[in-house]
Amino acid sequence: MPDASATVRATFSLPVAGAHLQASAQLPAGQTTLTQLLPIIQNLENAIIGRVAEEAQAAGSPISCRAGCGACCRQMVPVSLFEAEALTEWMRSLPEERQNELAERFHRALSALRDAGVIDKIVHDEWVLGEEQTQQLAIDYFHAHVACPFLENENCSIHPIRPLACREYLVVSSPELCQDPSVHDVTGVQLPLKLSRVLYSFGQQIERDVRGWIPLVFLMAWGKGDAKPGDHVAGTGEEVLKRFLARVAEMSDGHQD
Ligand code: SF4
Repeated sequence: MPDASATVRATFSLPVAGAHLQASAQLPAGQTTLTQLLPIIQNLENAIIGRVAEEAQAAGSPISCRAGCGACCRQMVPVSLFEAEALTEWMRSLPEERQNELAERFHRALSALRDAGVIDKIVHDEWVLGEEQTQQLAIDYFHAHVACPFLENENCSIHPIRPLACREYLVVSSPELCQDPSVHDVTGVQLPLKLSRVLYSFGQQIERDVRGWIPLVFLMAWGKGDAKPGDHVAGTGEEVLKRFLARVAEMSDGHQD
C-alpha cells in the first residue's frame, strides 16, 4: 500500500517576463489533483508579486494596498473552478455556526445584487464576449456596493487562502481613488504573469465553460453541486505540476490577456 503522505522535492523554474523564477516545492508522491496543488501555486504567485512589489518600490511607485482597506472587495472577483473547489472544502470543514453565518452573508450579497439587477446580467453569457459589456458589468457590480462575503471589518477573513485574482489586484495610486474606480483613475500594477489566468484556462476545458471561473459571490451555490474539477487534472504531484508549468510556458509565450 503506497504511503499517501509521501512527498518528493521538485525544483523548477517559472518563466516570468523573459526571466526565470527559480523555485522548489515538496509535492505529493502519489495521486493528487490541481486543486490539491493550490498551496504551491499560491506560493508561486506570492513570489511573483513579491518581486513586482520590490520593482515598484525601487521605481518610486510603491504598492499602496494595505490591510484594512477593502475598497476593491466590492468588485466582482473571479474564482477559478479549482479555487472554488478548495474554498468549498474549506468552508465545509468549519464549525456549523460559522458555516451558517457565511451562508447568510452569501445569501444577503446575492439578494442585494439581484435587487440591483446585476445577477440577471451575470447569468447571461454575452458579457464575456464584449469588452464594453464586461466593463459595464464591472461598473454595475461595483455600484451595487455589495461587499465580498469574506470581508470582515474591511479585512479579508480568508487572507492566506484568498483567490489568486485578489492577490493580483495591486494598486500604486492613492487608496482613496479605489472608492470608485469607474470615476477615478486607479493605477494598477501590470503583472508579467497572472497564474489565475492559467487556472482559468484549465477550467475552460472542463465542461467547456466559457470563462473557466465563477464570480466569488456564487461560491456557496456552486459548492452545492459537488463538482470536483480537480479530478480532471490529476496525476502524481510531479505530473500535475509539470502540466501546470507547461501551460504557464505556453501562456507566457503571448497567450495571456
Ligand atoms: S476574498 Fe478577501 S481579498 Fe478577495 S474580495 Fe473577498 S475579502 Fe477581498
